[in-house]
Amino acid sequence: MSEKTLAQAIRENMKRDGKRFWAGDNISEYIKENYKEELIDEATAAFEQVLDTLLIDRENDPNSHGTARRLAKMYYNEIMAGRYDPAPDATAFPNDSQDRYEGMLVVRSELRSMCSHHHQPVSGVAYIGIIAAEKLIGLSKYTRIAQWCARRGTLQEELANDIAREIEKATGAKDLGVYIQAVHGCCENRGIMAHSSLTQTTVLKGAFKEDGNTKKEFFDNIKLQQEFAPR
Ligand SMILES: [Zn+2]
Repeated sequence: MSEKTLAQAIRENMKRDGKRFWAGDNISEYIKENYKEELIDEATAAFEQVLDTLLIDRENDPNSHGTARRLAKMYYNEIMAGRYDPAPDATAFPNDSQDRYEGMLVVRSELRSMCSHHHQPVSGVAYIGIIAAEKLIGLSKYTRIAQWCARRGTLQEELANDIAREIEKATGAKDLGVYIQAVHGCCENRGIMAHSSLTQTTVLKGAFKEDGNTKKEFFDNIKLQQEFAPR
C-alpha cells in the first residue's frame, strides 16, 4: 500500500465536508500556503505518466524533457490559479455622501479562461456594468475579480454568473450586468474547426433586467467601448 498523496488527503477532506470541487469551483480554503509545491510535484508525476501513455519520449526529446513539470506549474499557477487562490482583495470605498456617484459604470476586462470539457483556451472580453451602490471598488479590481473567476475550468455561461455574483459581493450593487464575448479553442482546434465562432453570454440583474432604458444604456456603452477599442 502506497502512502496517501496530499491531493488524496485534500479530496477526502472536501468530501467529508460536502464541499463541491468541480473544475470551476474555488477551493482555496483547503489549500494552505505551503501545499502548492507538493501538489505541483504530485501533478508532475501524473503528467509524466500521461506523456508516457501518449508514447512521447520525454527522456530523449529535449522539448518534452521538462514538459510534465511545466504543465503542472501552469495548471496550478496560471490557467487554474483561480481555483486555488483566495479572492483578490478589493477594498471598498464609501459612496454615500451627498454628491455620491449615481451613474452607470462599465468596465471592460480582458479574459483568459479554459473550457472544462476539453481544457482548451477561451479568450475574450467581459463588460461589467453596475449602478453604484453605497460603496465603490478600484477600477482595476473589476478585472482582477473577472480574471480570478476565469482562471478555472469553466463554461462561458457559468463564468458570466460567477463574475456577476462576485462583483455583487464586492460592490454591494444589486443593479448589474455582465456581457461576455469569447472565442473557444475547442471550436477552433477540434471537430467543426469553425475559426470565427464567437460566443456571447449575458447576465442581467435588478434594473439592468427590469428597466429597458438601463439595459439599453448598458449595451450602448458596450458599443461605444467596442468602437473605441475594437476586438
Ligand atoms: Zn470545450
